[in-house]
Formats: sequence, structure tokens, C-alpha cells
Amino acid sequence: MSKQLSKDRLILVCNDDGIFSKGIQALADVAAEFGEVRVVAPDRQQSAVGHSITIMDPLRASPFKMASGLNGIAVNGTPADCVKLATDQLLDRKPDLILSGINHGSNAGINIIYSGTVSAATEGTILGFPSIAVSCMEFGEDADLSGCMEAARRAVSFVFKNGLPRGITLNVNAPGGPFKGIRWTKQGDSRYEDEYVLRKDPMNNPYYWITGRMEILDEGMEFDINVLNDGLASVTPIQYDLTAHKVFSTFSEMEI
Ligand code: MN
Repeated sequence: MSKQLSKDRLILVCNDDGIFSKGIQALADVAAEFGEVRVVAPDRQQSAVGHSITIMDPLRASPFKMASGLNGIAVNGTPADCVKLATDQLLDRKPDLILSGINHGSNAGINIIYSGTVSAATEGTILGFPSIAVSCMEFGEDADLSGCMEAARRAVSFVFKNGLPRGITLNVNAPGGPFKGIRWTKQGDSRYEDEYVLRKDPMNNPYYWITGRMEILDEGMEFDINVLNDGLASVTPIQYDLTAHKVFSTFSEMEI
């Protein structure tokens, strides 16, 4: 990659944990190896907001100084809002790539559905930009993101070399700690065994707080969750076309 080429590239970085998170700075650092970086991200924690967008309230975009000194923009909206607003208004030109993350917490298996991190990347794909979501299995702010950064680096290199077909997003996950390899995977079927903890507030009113454990339903090393549990990074091509293509031809020949 020549310096001249990389300088011409514009990379938008977003996330769902908020612009102040350690993970987004790490992903911005990776992005800077490939081109010019613009960070536009939520001004607060927006995990598990999925693909929601703000339609009843105004959006505000405020300058935010990143830990590295990079000038970012904080938005009082969702991850998908950030990508839409950035590409329509806040950037001076169209990005060559959109990165979302590094999320603190896995976005493998059914987490993909709830994830704001993945939705920011999916929004980029919908708008026609090559987009990648990157997540680390470890939640903590002090998580070692080095392996995840290397996984992100490989996914970015892949996309700049090969491009992505229309409608396809890359979903990258990695364990905390050093890089031990990366595999192409499929989204593993899984679900949460939710348990709501019941407590009382100071006025003695009950409230509920979600907790729970992921149950893995797919076995085999072709699936994201199992590859991650084996200590490797995972990259899954995902799509926002929710048509069930596997049953469409059968159903479409049946009477309705
Ligand atoms: Mn998050």
C-alpha cells in the first residue's frame, strides 16, 4: 500500500459504546494505518439499541477530542443515526470504508440482532459503503484489544483488496489478548436464557434488570461462537436481507 493511496482514503469510525470508549480509539488507530480517519459516534452508551434511529427528536453533533488527540464528533443519537448523519452531513466527502467498534463484548451468534455496533456497520452497507463491525469478547475497559485490532487489520486489508458485494457486511469478533488466528465463520444459532432480577427502588417500588446466559444451539467449528471459544478470531459475512431464501422456493409454490 503506497502512502499516496492510503492518504486518499477516508474511513468513518463509529461504535455503540460511546465516543469515549477505549475500543473506538483502538479501532481509529487501526483505521489510521489505512487512511484518513473521521470518528462520529454516540455521545453516550448505546449498546443493544439494535438498528433504531431517532425520528422524533433533533440530533446535535458536538466536537469531541479523542484520547489520541484526534478530533471526533459526538452525536446524541444511535449508532445508525451516526452513520446516516455522518455520510449525509458531517463528512466533507464520502467514506471509502465504515468501521464500527471495537465493541466491548461479543457480537457473535444472536448478539448480532441486538447489537448497535453491528447495526452501525449494517447501516453503512445499506447506504452502499463497504462496512465492518469489530467486537471483543471481553467487556472490561482494561481488556487487551491487541488480537482484536489485528483481526480488524486483516478484515480491512481484505475489503480494500477484494471489496464487498452489495448488501454484505463483515462481522468480526475476537477474544481478548494476543492474536491467535482468524477463521471465516457462519452466525451460530443461539439464544439467551434470560433472567430478570427483581429489586426494590428507594421508594419500595419493584424494578427489573435483565441478566442471563447465552445458550449455544449450533455445534461445529464453522460457527462464530465456537471458533471464539476456541481462542481464535471470527469473521462472518452477514446480510440485512432477511428473506428466508432457504424456504422461499418451497413456500412460493404452496397455496396461501
Ligand atoms: Mn456495545
